[in-house]
Amino acid sequence: MFKRIRWPGWIVIFLLFFAIITTITKGSEAIIKTDKEDEDNIRIEHKKSSKYPGLNFITETKEENTYTSSISIPTTESESINKEIEGWLNKQKDDFFSAMAANEDILGEDFRAHLNIQLDTEKVNKDIYNLTFYAYHFSGGANGINIIKSFTVDLNEKEILSLTDILEFKEDGLKIVQENIKEQLMNNEDVNKYIMIDTLNDVLSDPNDWEWAINNEIFTIYFSEYEIAAGAAGVIEVNIPLAEIKDYLKEDILSQLDIVTDPVAEEDSKEKQEEKEKKEEDQEDKEEKVELDPSGKYVALTFDDGPSSTVTPNVLGTLKEYGARATFYMLGSQVNYYPEIAKQVAEAGHEIGNHTENHIDLTVADRSKVHAEIKDSSDKIFKASGQQPTTVRPPYGAFNDNVIEVSKENNQSIILWSVDSLDWKSRDASAVKQEILRNVIPGSIVLMHDIHNSTADALPGLLKELKEQGYEFITVSELLSLQEAAGVGPHYGTLNY
Ligand code: ZN
Repeated sequence: MFKRIRWPGWIVIFLLFFAIITTITKGSEAIIKTDKEDEDNIRIEHKKSSKYPGLNFITETKEENTYTSSISIPTTESESINKEIEGWLNKQKDDFFSAMAANEDILGEDFRAHLNIQLDTEKVNKDIYNLTFYAYHFSGGANGINIIKSFTVDLNEKEILSLTDILEFKEDGLKIVQENIKEQLMNNEDVNKYIMIDTLNDVLSDPNDWEWAINNEIFTIYFSEYEIAAGAAGVIEVNIPLAEIKDYLKEDILSQLDIVTDPVAEEDSKEKQEEKEKKEEDQEDKEEKVELDPSGKYVALTFDDGPSSTVTPNVLGTLKEYGARATFYMLGSQVNYYPEIAKQVAEAGHEIGNHTENHIDLTVADRSKVHAEIKDSSDKIFKASGQQPTTVRPPYGAFNDNVIEVSKENNQSIILWSVDSLDWKSRDASAVKQEILRNVIPGSIVLMHDIHNSTADALPGLLKELKEQGYEFITVSELLSLQEAAGVGPHYGTLNY
């Protein structure tokens, strides 16, 4: 082999070596230079991982003139998994926008379309997770539509599992499983009268088209609204105990699953009750009254849609540096993934408010749904942080009588805002800072989001400037008590007319 390289070969190798060395040297010089130039501006990335190692989650929200949207986005360390999930999410957005286009003339500030994509994450074992999306499309037509999509990911193999990775239908195995699914559907009195049998047969005929998930106990098949039944049936789930299809499970998956044939009963609820009481006592101990001057120059900074893995820890760092306290309107779905960050926020002396479980537009939900959205996130916030939210911020600032009544039942005041940083739109640190400085007055409630890096970047300059102007930073509840603003509200803070 070596003999084949004659002198022109050696020159090429030498030149290549020289080129590599030059690039490395230049590269490191460039890095050093940037560091020096931006010394004051280096963002410290305190990245926290979620309670599921290898997975991170963010809820991306938007509020435009004609629509609102909230999308839960999971990311893994595998580009190919991320890309496939992103592809599906983008398809949902495209479908939503084209459906919206048909209703262009009726959509506007008073009647907006809504896209909500929620995520249910289930851990199967240390590598395998079910990521199940529930998408609700309301594009302005008569009814919304619910779509379900499930990805079973193997983080170790860095791949999304296909049905053929899981099941191998030997002999008449496929027919047996198809019959099992049909029988369950026909025995389900809530849905059987709506089933369109020809369509069902069609959907079941090709297992590659099935929407499914698997855990240690059951294999689940999902059907989106209208897929196999009239709309009244909604989204349909069929669960098959693994024991019933054990013969068709592939060796590979069998060795990974820890199959449970007799699920363990729920934990003793007495223990949970005791834990709750203890936390309530702790909370009472922790509460210390801060002396507030009724004629003081106060502002309440608020951060919505978190906690997030990178931005929330950064925001906490800056607030600490300036001795500022703020209010975080958290989503129950995000608190579920980042309970540790919620706890840190509470321990740093900030207030945690309720921003509902899934960031839906509450004005299009019925009363029981509104109740669940407010109650579920309150419970998650309390469990994670020991703080019981006393204020709620409805997503998109959208509320109606239902929302007011349910908030009242939950002893939570509705908090809107008087200064909108528009941070989600500009995504620009200096624009965020300017927008707030232009509009802030004593008693303002300022709306920001702790999911954009640009917002975290705006904060040091903003706090410095406001402090120089004599402002002090307090929580929303403190501002309410100072303004003697009682009851469910809604409360906006002092408006700058
Ligand atoms: Zn929000």
